[in-house]
Amino acid sequence: MRVILLGAPGAGKGTQAGKIGERLSVPHIATGDLFRAAVSQGTELGKLAKSYMDQGELVPDQVTVRMLLERLSQPDCRKGYILDGFPRTLEQAQALDTALAERGDKVDRTIYLEVSEAELVRRLSGRWICPVCQTPYHEVTNPPRTPRRCDKEGAALYQRDDDKPETVKTRLAVYFQQTVPLIQHYARQGLLRRVNGEKEIQQVEREMVTSLR
Ligand code: ADP
Ligand code: AMP
Repeated sequence: MRVILLGAPGAGKGTQAGKIGERLSVPHIATGDLFRAAVSQGTELGKLAKSYMDQGELVPDQVTVRMLLERLSQPDCRKGYILDGFPRTLEQAQALDTALAERGDKVDRTIYLEVSEAELVRRLSGRWICPVCQTPYHEVTNPPRTPRRCDKEGAALYQRDDDKPETVKTRLAVYFQQTVPLIQHYARQGLLRRVNGEKEIQQVEREMVTSLR
């Protein structure tokens, strides 16, 4: 099953994609995680991506689409995948539609996680991430069992530089301008399901499972 998770930064895409990917036995693919891996490896792609990420802006479509399609060509994606943070522009959505159509495939479902702006800001300001498995935690709503340590890896959690309030402001503005039009794009194709992302994590997961049936 090929699933897209749409939603603003902080909506809970990574939190849910990890769980749903495990349930469906398909990989969770987050373009943000792919870019952060490239940044930490110090590759040319990483250097380019960092200059946009630090500003809260989107990495150019051509670069992003190439990286994503390469990832999707790997064998673990044959049975499907959960996309988190891609597509983020109409151009990216069209490039994905075209690449899939060339193989006789299509997106099966798009879930839009709806969360108010005030809640997004609260979530991003308290987000802590595992550097090993990328699991997101929240200091208030979803704390790890041991303070600031990943439950699975035991690694020390970190806060993303781009979760600082100034950068969050830009990221949300970019989301409203460039990504929100995708809601209509997938609604027109009859693929969109809306899920209230403001409920607690397990409840959101249950509603997502229902909307994937
Ligand atoms: P995204 O991948 O959409 O940017 P994350 O999954 O990283 O969002 O979640 C953002 C923050 O909100 C994290 O700190 C996470 O622990 C927390 N969070 C996710 N879902 C919920 C929820 N339903 N209720 C409260 N906090 C949540
Ligand atoms: P995320 O982890 O999804 O919040 O993404 C972090 C940053 O990576 C974004 O602010 C962008 O700079 C970049 N990025 C991630 N996904 C994309 C995408 N699909 N298109 C362009 N830039 C992206």
